Amino acid sequence: MKKIYLDYAATTPVDQKVLDAMLPYFSQNFGNAMSVHSFGQEALEAVDEARAKAALFFRANTSEIIFTSGATESNNLVVKGSLRSYYSIARKEKPHIITTKFEHHCVLDACKFAEKDGLAEVTNISPNKDGLISVKDIKAAIKPNTILISVMYVNNEIGTVQPIAEIGKLLKKINAERAENKLSRITFHTDATQAINYFNCDVDELGVDLLSMSAHKIYGPKGIGLLYVRKGTPIKRVQDGGDQEFKLRAGTHNVPAIVGLGEAINMIKTPATQKKIIEITELRDYLIKRVLKEIPKSYLNGSLEKRSPNNANFRFDDVEGEGLILSLDLDGIAASTGSACSSGALDPSHVLLSLGLKHEQAHGSLRLTIGKYTTKKELDTVIEKIKEVVKRLRKISGNVLADFQ
Ligand code: PMP
Repeated sequence: MKKIYLDYAATTPVDQKVLDAMLPYFSQNFGNAMSVHSFGQEALEAVDEARAKAALFFRANTSEIIFTSGATESNNLVVKGSLRSYYSIARKEKPHIITTKFEHHCVLDACKFAEKDGLAEVTNISPNKDGLISVKDIKAAIKPNTILISVMYVNNEIGTVQPIAEIGKLLKKINAERAENKLSRITFHTDATQAINYFNCDVDELGVDLLSMSAHKIYGPKGIGLLYVRKGTPIKRVQDGGDQEFKLRAGTHNVPAIVGLGEAINMIKTPATQKKIIEITELRDYLIKRVLKEIPKSYLNGSLEKRSPNNANFRFDDVEGEGLILSLDLDGIAASTGSACSSGALDPSHVLLSLGLKHEQAHGSLRLTIGKYTTKKELDTVIEKIKEVVKRLRKISGNVLADFQ
């Protein structure tokens, strides 16, 4: 049985070109990039080269690129490092952070624990039913003590695209007014982990001060990512130790992985990748159209128009998403659902609940994410399988629909 992988939002395979670029840095050029001898200098050169590629991609300066172990670490650094900076000078007032209800857990939990520890007050903005955050709601939530706004660029479950550039524009205006009133500047962060492959990530055009990403979502290796930090942004490191990464992230450089990140990010703007994006969008539209047409009581979660080219997230009445993905897995099809198994119970996805869906609706979801190796033939196989499994599961739950095509 040939397996079919439709979980590219979870992770991607390392591209052969990326792997080839990385290999010499495991055992041949193995130096520590902080060593002064030639082995170290060779490693440092490779790190600098990767940093230059990343800086070019984001149209940033090389000194604004901080390598981390991935987006989880970058996002933790954003929340905790901003608070650490805030408290590094005597403050009377508790700072305020604005984020959204459907951020990745690494942002949500970092904020939640900061709030629990009495370090910050947090406002979680709700998306609308289509999975979109309104700029107006962000504006209305801003207070004199707001120090940080964190809004993800593309949601990892439903693929909806948030108005980052518009929020950036609003904050530029608000920060100018705040400067006149002697109020502190608000830092703007976006978690762009799911956006890098498909959307404009020019940090000036977006108006962001901080941006997180992870290499394993862009055909690079796991365990490496970065945080873009605009010069002058108030942020302090949270991991103490050496002076690596402009003193913002201590720890020996993961040189092969950094090289891999550089190579992977460099491939995105090539004509071949740009052409692929068109193909991926067409495949996504084909998949969505067929599923919605051929499976009764099926729905798309999240806006169709403001959606990542690779994401299709469905829900089916009277079907548990978990049962669906387990059945698909038995047939060699890798898909995903937003529910998380915690403490023995299956929690419905916080993303789907934030759209206003009921628990049973949030349980019936299926995320299929396409990548550069996906074919139409694979999608045809998957669509037929989903039809079959949904029908079977509905039969088991006693909800057979007569008009099933
Ligand atoms: N943010 C988003 C939006 C993500 O999709 C992910 C990965 N699922 C992360 C953060 C965490 O990234 P990493 O795996 O690099 O820790």
